[in-house]
Amino acid sequence: MKDNYNRNITYLRISITDRCNLRCTYCMPEEGVDKLSHKDLLSFEEIVEFTKQAVAMGINKVRLTGGEPLVRKGIVDLVKMLWDIDGIKDLALTTNAVLLKEYAQPLKDAGLQRLNISLDTLDKERFAQITRRDKLEEVLAGIDEAIKVGFKQIKLNCVIEKTKKEPDAVAVAKYAEDKGLQARFIRTMNLEKGEFWIVDGGDGGNCSICNRIRLSSSGDVLPCLFSDLGYNIREFGNKEAILQALEHKPQKGTISKKNEFYTVGG
Ligand code: SAM
Ligand code: SF4
Repeated sequence: MKDNYNRNITYLRISITDRCNLRCTYCMPEEGVDKLSHKDLLSFEEIVEFTKQAVAMGINKVRLTGGEPLVRKGIVDLVKMLWDIDGIKDLALTTNAVLLKEYAQPLKDAGLQRLNISLDTLDKERFAQITRRDKLEEVLAGIDEAIKVGFKQIKLNCVIEKTKKEPDAVAVAKYAEDKGLQARFIRTMNLEKGEFWIVDGGDGGNCSICNRIRLSSSGDVLPCLFSDLGYNIREFGNKEAILQALEHKPQKGTISKKNEFYTVGG
C-alpha cells in the first residue's frame, strides 16, 4: 500500500506491552510508568486480526516490540499465531534479552525469524547505571543462547549519546564482531523535543524511505513515531484505522508529545 508520498508501506511494528523489566534512563522514568489497564491492552486475538488485515493490504514484515515483549505472558503463542498468517515474509522481535535464555528456543520453534537485541555497554556497572537494573549477565547469556539455537542475522541495538566512538559503543562493536553479530548505533532521541536521527546501520529515522506503521499496545495505529497522530482500532475498525494512518502519514516527522519509546516500541 502506498501513502501520499509514494512510499510503499510494508512494515508493521507491534508493541505488545508497555511493561518492562529494565528502566533505561533514556526510555522510562525510574519509578516505572502507569501501566495500561487490562481492558485497554489489546488481546492476542485483536493483534492477530489486525495483522491479518494489515497483511491483506500489503504488510509483509512484522516486528514485535514493547516495552519488553518477553514479559508479556503467552508471547510464544502469539508468535505462533502470527507466523500462521499467510503473507508474512519476515517476523522479528526486539528485546532487551533479559529473559532470552529461557525464550530463545521456544521462540525459534514458534517461527520467529529474527532478533534485534538492545545492548548499550559491556560494563556491569555502566549497564546497571543505564538500565537501573543489574542484569548484564542475564543479557549476555540470552545473546549466547540465541546464537546457540540458530538465530541468524542477530542485530545489536546500541544507544549512544552522540558518537559510536564513545567507549561503551566501541566495546559493543568489538563484542558484535567477535560474535559475528551486526551492531547498529542509535543516537539518543527525544520525541518531545523533536530530536531524532538516522540510525547508523539501519533505516530508522530516515523519513524519505520510511515504510512503517505501528500498532501501540492499546490499539492506536500510528503513521509516524515523531507525530501525535493515531487511529484506534477499537474506534475505527482495523481497515479504516490503517487507511487513516496511511492517508495522514506525514512526509517528515516533527515532534510527539504523546508517544514514548516504551509505548510505541521505537
Ligand atoms: N525493550 C526492548 C528493547 O529495549 O530492545 C524493546 C523496546 S525498546 C523501546 C526498542 C528500542 O528503542 C531499543 O533498542 C531502545 O534502545 C530504543 N530506545 C528507547 N528509548 C530511546 C531513545 N530515547 N532514543 C533512541 N532509542 C531509544
Ligand atoms: Fe525497557 Fe527497552 Fe525501554 Fe529499556 S529501552 S526501558 S529495555 S522498553
